[in-house]
Amino acid sequence: MNITQNIEKIKSELSGTSARLIAVTKTKPLADLQAAYDGNCKVFGENKVQEMVEKWEVLPKDIEWHLIGHLQSNKVKYMASFVAMIHSVDSLKLLQEIDKQALKNNRVIDCLLQIYIAKEETKFGLSEDEAREILDSEEFKAMKNVRIVGVMGMATFTDNQEQIRLEFRGLKAFFENLKAQYAPTENLQLSEVSMGMSGDFLIAAEEGSTLVRVGSAIFGSR
Ligand SMILES: *Cc1c(COP(=O)(O)O)cnc(C)c1O
Repeated sequence: MNITQNIEKIKSELSGTSARLIAVTKTKPLADLQAAYDGNCKVFGENKVQEMVEKWEVLPKDIEWHLIGHLQSNKVKYMASFVAMIHSVDSLKLLQEIDKQALKNNRVIDCLLQIYIAKEETKFGLSEDEAREILDSEEFKAMKNVRIVGVMGMATFTDNQEQIRLEFRGLKAFFENLKAQYAPTENLQLSEVSMGMSGDFLIAAEEGSTLVRVGSAIFGSR
């Protein structure tokens, strides 16, 4: 695995699209992350808070850290000082905790609402109605230390490329609906659609992704 070459190849495949590359570094050793950093990719995604904190502590401080995996409220405090974006907001309660911990750190944390788009049973993610309920709630409107900047979704685990494409298209359409329905405010500035992984990031980019989360295509299988 030549990490630098993989990053260059993916970045060139994404050029001309709106998608930024997030290198998903979960389970990978520090040397791999350093190699990606030296290869000029400084945006990393992790799915466990503790692992992200351990890596953040020792790696260069200009890395942008994205939390992409399911998040429990009691873990937010460990990363609230440095996390750049949380992709996996799936409840009002979690958003309230992020707001509280961000306030303690005197900052605003960018968040995405994770939307359930796959046809298969998954435990995590909001329906479109549940996402709107959060945006409509008085609790959210009063929050000053979170900013919802978009949506995130994961397609069904399938070889059916057309199904994957339609699921991404559906998420992008929902994002556009939200943008049309909700005027921007201090804590709601919709600009990001996080979709696409190693197997489907090109489809996602074609369907309007702004953040692709790519792990194994850069670092090899886990
Ligand atoms: C692991 C993971 C990815 C990256 O998966 P690859 O198939 O290795 O690219 C993307 N998004 C989430 C939420 C993940 O947990």
